Amino acid sequence: MRVDRSGVSALVLALVLGACAPAGEEQAEAPAADTPAAAPESVQDSATTDTAMGQDDYPVSSAAQIHDRTFTLDTHVDIGPGYGTDALDPGEHTHAQVDLPKMVEGGLDAAFFIVYVGQGDLTEEGYAAAREAAEEKYRGISRMLANDPDRIALATTADEVEAIAASGRLVALIGMENAYPLGPGIDDVPMWAERGVRYMSITHFGNNQFGGSSNPDTGAGEPAEDPGLSDLGRELVASLNDHGIIVDVSHVGKQTMLDAIELSRAPVMASHSGARAVYDNARNLDDEQLRAIRDNGGVAHMVAFRRYIGEMPQAVLDGQRALAAELGLDTPEGREAATPEIIAAYREGLAALRAEHGDVDISVLADHIDHAVEVAGIEHVGIASDFDGGGGVGGWEDASETAAVTEELLRRGYTPDEIEMMWSGNILRVMRAVEEAAATAE
Ligand SMILES: [Zn+2]
Repeated sequence: MRVDRSGVSALVLALVLGACAPAGEEQAEAPAADTPAAAPESVQDSATTDTAMGQDDYPVSSAAQIHDRTFTLDTHVDIGPGYGTDALDPGEHTHAQVDLPKMVEGGLDAAFFIVYVGQGDLTEEGYAAAREAAEEKYRGISRMLANDPDRIALATTADEVEAIAASGRLVALIGMENAYPLGPGIDDVPMWAERGVRYMSITHFGNNQFGGSSNPDTGAGEPAEDPGLSDLGRELVASLNDHGIIVDVSHVGKQTMLDAIELSRAPVMASHSGARAVYDNARNLDDEQLRAIRDNGGVAHMVAFRRYIGEMPQAVLDGQRALAAELGLDTPEGREAATPEIIAAYREGLAALRAEHGDVDISVLADHIDHAVEVAGIEHVGIASDFDGGGGVGGWEDASETAAVTEELLRRGYTPDEIEMMWSGNILRVMRAVEEAAATAE
């Protein structure tokens, strides 16, 4: 393992803060003590696969065999600083939740790797910094692809996804989280499309030039009520349609989302969001939103992000803060200086806290999936980890444990065909529809 301090500190930051959620938001969302979900169950019981049997195309097989022949695509995987360099080389075993060895081990065949930029000021300086941050994320993904062309390749169409998978390689796709780096116009959309970006979310935390966030920065004076898509946001949706990029409505406010769906002439996706009826968090989709995605022909990927989908035991949250302070990880300097040993100690301590006080585990993720399927239908539901962006639940902590998701879904009575739809079939259908809509652009 080759690890340098910048890679380590990025990981620690993700562990301590959750890269997907700013610290302030997290604290605001900190739940009251509650009865946690049970600890992850053993998934060895082959009898649990009986529910999947009786399908003509599938002989009786173990859950592991079913997982092996299921094409799995995780729609949201973040990347750390120095990605594809000695600082964080995903070609090797790393401290990250996703690297190529973990993908192979866990039977994760494909992933959207993310060009993520947090929201900043809507100023010339802010836009310039965001553009550079996006460039570096893109360079990181490009380095990974250049380093390991025999093991992973970039797909820009659904057909390419299937061709690369058939060649025995892992499949990389690129998604962009937050359109903020586009700046005050949409001229860069064709460039990002050319580079292979195949979905783009409109916002992240905080409203931007295109629309409202599910989590507006009210502290900075943004209205609590989502203003909806701006005029520029309307241009953005049209341009994404024209250039074959899926409109991603994760992280956007409800009005902005409904505006985007109304305007889009192609199906949309939510790349990583939970079901709000199961757990009331602003990042999740309510039933009206799930039905809007259904009616649009899109897909909503349920996210394995503890704080978004379930009630974290207060004792774990308190213990986590104390542990971070004890290990010197409660300051930016401390996180910067963290060694792999400190990270290992942090992870062990966190695991002990969860074992003692309870955890949000894979069964909670499956509850969100069940609800989304009930409301939107199985053709409109998918799965996302948000690994290396704060994601992970008990039983699915990194890509090496991906089979556990399939096993849980089999246990819940989904057939192998249904599971494959959620793992990849639905998003590939959406990709094809978006490609088709772009091909018929005026
Ligand atoms: Zn996110």
